[in-house]
Amino acid sequence: MLHDVLTVDALTQALQVIRPAVRQGKPYSVGAPPEAPIKLNQNENPFELPEAVKRELLEALQEVPLNRYPAEHPERLRQALAEHLGWSPEGIIVGNGSNELTFTLGLAVVDAGTPVVLPRPMFSFYEMMVRLHGGNVLGVPPRPDLQFDTEALLETISRNRPALVVLTTPNNPTGLTMAPEDVEAIVQAAPGLVLIDEAYVEFTDGIGFRRFLDHYPHVLLLRTFSKAFGLAGVRLGYLVGHPRIIQELYKARIPFMVDRLAETIALTLLRHYKLVQEQAARIKQAVAWLYQELATLAGVAPVPSQANFVIFRTELQPRILLARLAQKGILLRDLSNYPELRGYVRVSAGRPEENRAFMDALKEALTEPE
Ligand SMILES: *Cc1c(COP(=O)(O)O)cnc(C)c1O
Repeated sequence: MLHDVLTVDALTQALQVIRPAVRQGKPYSVGAPPEAPIKLNQNENPFELPEAVKRELLEALQEVPLNRYPAEHPERLRQALAEHLGWSPEGIIVGNGSNELTFTLGLAVVDAGTPVVLPRPMFSFYEMMVRLHGGNVLGVPPRPDLQFDTEALLETISRNRPALVVLTTPNNPTGLTMAPEDVEAIVQAAPGLVLIDEAYVEFTDGIGFRRFLDHYPHVLLLRTFSKAFGLAGVRLGYLVGHPRIIQELYKARIPFMVDRLAETIALTLLRHYKLVQEQAARIKQAVAWLYQELATLAGVAPVPSQANFVIFRTELQPRILLARLAQKGILLRDLSNYPELRGYVRVSAGRPEENRAFMDALKEALTEPE
């Protein structure tokens, strides 16, 4: 790298063209090494596919013409999802991970100063997206039990007339769900779009707020293949809504974003949705077990969860607890960046032997001398 005066001047000048909203931001970061013997930090599905399904998948992949561009939008997958949801394919948009669709929505909706209501604590990517587009984040603090504060949300909506309200249920990072009547009250009060992020819907009844689509043209559902479907490494998500709204979002979406391999993999798993449901049921059992075990430990306070993870607080600082667990080969997520969740950490449900190893390691970590 050159460091003469001219280069430094040119660099300073070049940096000045980066928009202030971008320069003031921080890149999204998980803040942990990607590999560890027991990885319970990213809400992934810990189970492998059965051999027979893997073989079917490999055969399907062999037929994929890699030299050809994919369609602008993955039509076969859109059709399969339409059948899965009982909704028209024109009302579905598939993305390279649901995060990509969050960005698309931001491009379509958020301008400088656009008000967006985000209940707290919420998946931090939403705030990042609104700020990048220059929008006005209206964060609404939770109730003391960490549930979204419906009354405060209704008040914020009526005062600010937001273009977009985002709800996540089950919520990440808490694992809590919203009561349907609360969601409906917010939907009825909102003058703009309401995005309901259902990344964890398969760990509830698998249906979630699908019926709202029949009644409310301003509701959008966001779903992902990253959690129950076990395809976090493939990057696929989808957004569902009224075809007229979805048509507009297509104009803001980058074409060819879903590749042929990803589409083929998702189609295979949709054919085996029963397997996804079975794995989700096992993961739910693991979550119930983790919650019970955590609740028996002195000084440990877990929060009941409807997702594939549990958050809890201990008497140790998260940084110290996570370092001790990492030394034993176990990764958890530190939630201290959320002001409401200071002191909390998050454990994703693993396979049964991983969960037992985690509980043993936790008991040791909590009693280790300073
Ligand atoms: C994990 C998660 C997603 C999924 O993002 P992808 O880009 O599809 O992997 C979306 N929303 C929430 C709240 C999540 O926790």
